[in-house]
Amino acid sequence: MVEKDIVIIGGGPGGYVAAIRAAQLGGKVALIEKEELGGTCLNWGCIPTKALLRGAEILDIIEGGKEYGVLAGAVSVDFAKLMARKDRAVKTLVGGVTGLMKANGIEVIKGAARLVSPQKVEVVNSKQEKEIHQARKIIIASGSVSAEIPIPGAKLSGVIDSYGALALKQVPESLVVIGAGPIGLEFGTVYAALGAKVTVLELLPQVLPSEDPEIAAALEKSLRRFKIQTLTGVKVQKIAEGSEGKMLVTAGAGGEEKVFPAQYVLMAVGRKPNVEGLGLEEAGVKFSRKGIEVNDRMETNVPGVYAIGDVTGKWLLAHYASAQGEVAAKNALGQEEQMDERVVPRCVYTIPEVASVGLTEQKAGEEGYEVKVGRFPFSANGKAAILGERTGMVKMVADGKYGEILGVHIVGPHATDLIGEAVVAMRLEGTAADVGRAIHPHPTLTEAVMEAAFDVDGTAVHIPPRRKA
Ligand code: NAD
Repeated sequence: MVEKDIVIIGGGPGGYVAAIRAAQLGGKVALIEKEELGGTCLNWGCIPTKALLRGAEILDIIEGGKEYGVLAGAVSVDFAKLMARKDRAVKTLVGGVTGLMKANGIEVIKGAARLVSPQKVEVVNSKQEKEIHQARKIIIASGSVSAEIPIPGAKLSGVIDSYGALALKQVPESLVVIGAGPIGLEFGTVYAALGAKVTVLELLPQVLPSEDPEIAAALEKSLRRFKIQTLTGVKVQKIAEGSEGKMLVTAGAGGEEKVFPAQYVLMAVGRKPNVEGLGLEEAGVKFSRKGIEVNDRMETNVPGVYAIGDVTGKWLLAHYASAQGEVAAKNALGQEEQMDERVVPRCVYTIPEVASVGLTEQKAGEEGYEVKVGRFPFSANGKAAILGERTGMVKMVADGKYGEILGVHIVGPHATDLIGEAVVAMRLEGTAADVGRAIHPHPTLTEAVMEAAFDVDGTAVHIPPRRKA
């Protein structure tokens, strides 16, 4: 048995990035994965959903071609081909990660891993053969699994989770989505844009409950374009099977229950850390329902054992997992690194997209800042007019005293790309004036970020002056 410097459990964007960083730092690394490299993100999450969304966007663009005098005739969707292309995109990227493992000299071990002690990992392969791997340091990156609500009918065959939604054979004629978080709204958008009648039921008072209310309201309005019906503040009570296999979802409260029929029900009520079967108890690693407990160096309570990604139950985001992976790898190999929790971007791939970083206006106020806000609508941006995507806005939240940017919230075209500028500005502790004074290229959507920065002091150029109070 050869001892490794680091054994990593889980090959998602947390685990594989940690493996590469550790190998770059000279570590002898093994990565254990029971399914495919790339984890949820590449195989069942970020990548396949965005590949499907691209199909929906192309359809939308073609249908909107008339506006530009581009007439395409009758347009239809070959769903099997769209799904096959999605599978090819996934395969290409998984192949890329496999190649990177080889190129970095990382040993990839196929099987299910379990800690038997803080320095020993047992791996069971598909033939049920067992092997023990000895490691100086262990990084747990086992991800998360879909959660469900314990209501009658939750296990009916017409009730699917994100895995099921990626494996449909046809565009459903109707879909009820439970939960208006990123998963619910992203799948809701894809299937509505492809022609399904989509209803989204959300327990809390707004869609994307953790986002800025103005941004969420603007998104909710935009989703009506695809005839997505969103109902907020409704509790789902039960699911039953009606005639011809139709799912019947009962939601509401206080005698105001309504039944929503649909071909499928997508359960998108969150994900939970994957802590099962990892031997955490045996190794003495502290964890709860919320995930494995870690400090800002990604250390667990057991010396030499680290945890990163969804299993730590913090932000369930691929890029956050990767950042944690880098921190864990560096610390495990004797360097000093801490997570910067201040600047974590969030992206939602709807049409239009939503992206944010930092504090909302409300949260900044609660934290005691003297808050100043700038807004700029895409309806006043030249590039947005060119693209024919004029809905949405950029909202910048800044500290009134020094002008430091505290948060940026965007709903609109390419929001998920635009947020990158805000991430860098915040990471450098930039002010709204810094972003405003930086010359932005014209005509681009980035000018909306610059104008929102100017608007923090009421000096945006392309909107009428604010009325004096
Ligand atoms: P989520 O927790 O973000 O949203 C689930 C939603 O379901 C919440 O709004 C919640 O209020 C609602 N809900 C819960 N119980 C309900 C009930 N009984 N009736 C109606 N609504 C109910 O979870 P998600 O959207 O499933 O995503 C899971 C995780 O994966 C999240 O942490 C998310 O951030 C992450 N994710 C991120 C992206 C992205 O960044 N683009 C995409 C997919 C998933």
